[in-house]
Amino acid sequence: MEHYYKHHKHYRKLQNTARTKRRHKSKWALIKYKGDKCEHCKVSFTWPGVYEFHHTDPSEKDFSISDALDRNIGALSKHPEILEELDKCLMLCANCHRIEHARLRGDLDE
Ligand SMILES: [Zn+2]
Ligand SMILES: [Zn+2]
Repeated sequence: MEHYYKHHKHYRKLQNTARTKRRHKSKWALIKYKGDKCEHCKVSFTWPGVYEFHHTDPSEKDFSISDALDRNIGALSKHPEILEELDKCLMLCANCHRIEHARLRGDLDE
């Protein structure tokens, strides 16, 4: 987390509420865990809102991280249930996530 604050000064301006701050801090921990880049286009983004978690098992809906993010999760190692869910997800940027769903629907076939 320290790394993030040190290297992304602009981020501070965007922390308009305590809730947003907490959510992004928690989300950043998940992003770091998943390798800090989109798993499809391999681009690394500085804004955590770009990243979305896509469940690779179509029988399960996309992992909802909202609840986890509203808690101050602190060290991820203390939350094996979150890591277990994350391991079943692809971390994609918003664009790649849209494309992946289009592909899954068969919209890219024609
Ligand atoms: Zn991407
Ligand atoms: Zn998805």
